[in-house]
Amino acid sequence: VAAKRNGQPAAEYDHTQEQQMRNRYGLLNELRQALQSQALQIVLQPKVELVSGQAVGFEALVRWQHPDGRVITPDTFIPVAETAGLISKLDMNVLQQTLSVCRDFLQQGVALPISFNTSSIDLLQPGYFDEMLAVIRQSGLPLELLELEVTESQAMVEYRSIAHQLRTLIALGMGVSIDDFGTGYSSLAHITDLAASVLKIDRTFISRLGESDDANHIVDMILRLGDRFGFQVIAEGVETEQQRQLLIEKGCRYAQGYLFSRPLPPEQALAWAQAHA
Ligand code: C2E
Ligand code: MG
Ligand code: MG
Ligand code: MG
Repeated sequence: VAAKRNGQPAAEYDHTQEQQMRNRYGLLNELRQALQSQALQIVLQPKVELVSGQAVGFEALVRWQHPDGRVITPDTFIPVAETAGLISKLDMNVLQQTLSVCRDFLQQGVALPISFNTSSIDLLQPGYFDEMLAVIRQSGLPLELLELEVTESQAMVEYRSIAHQLRTLIALGMGVSIDDFGTGYSSLAHITDLAASVLKIDRTFISRLGESDDANHIVDMILRLGDRFGFQVIAEGVETEQQRQLLIEKGCRYAQGYLFSRPLPPEQALAWAQAHA
């Protein structure tokens, strides 16, 4: 490990790498513990109808309540979980919480679909899909209230085997969203038979709406693909009234974003839905 220094900059580099490895190892251990101790909790971001502002559903997003008091967002630990073989456990845990929240909401008279994010690693792992379906069926919830999200870039990995699973879900009445759509280089050949019911326009295009011709055109194009091939389209990351107006003008019906609501703990999300029914 200790490279011979001799005052070479290379030695500093080694040191940094070692530090990063230790941080990663520490993070991984903490994440393992978090999974055991229910420190991973979901928050729910409302999805709305753009014109009326009414709630049309939610997305479940995982949060890590770290023992030191911080709340850690998934971009830090999802990639670690993915490379360390922990992601399936994490996603199954999130699914269980999603089902339980969905049941609570239903009992409180809020029958809105909730989506959950799923790594392609799960879907490529033998047995995961069957287990996922079994867990969903055991919940007894109407399948129309559940929606799986997979990112576009990931959905295109081993497209054939994943598409088969996604089609099964759609046939059962569940929703399937292609997340971060527009960033993953879907081939048009695949678009025509994309195994999905919803396209989620990636936030990077929404944030540049009105400022960039390219972003405007890409959003228009995705909306037209939706019309032509029968996908519902939802805009992610809407933060300003101007973006909302532009999306309405373009004929986009649904959105998610800080303009409407940040992701909320389940009880607050329920109250939000009741106030925006
Ligand atoms: P995503 O699925 O595309 O989720 C949208 C992300 O954008 C969320 O970040 C959300 O909090 C954030 N967001 C929503 N509205 C706005 C807005 O108006 N402005 C901005 N700047 N951001 C907004 P979050 O919760 O940090 O999640 C990041 C990513 O982590 C998610 O992207 C998803 O890919 C992944 N992820 C989250 N939960 C899970 C999970 O349970 N399993 C897996 N496999 N991945 C997850
Ligand atoms: Mg998502
Ligand atoms: Mg997204
Ligand atoms: Mg994302």
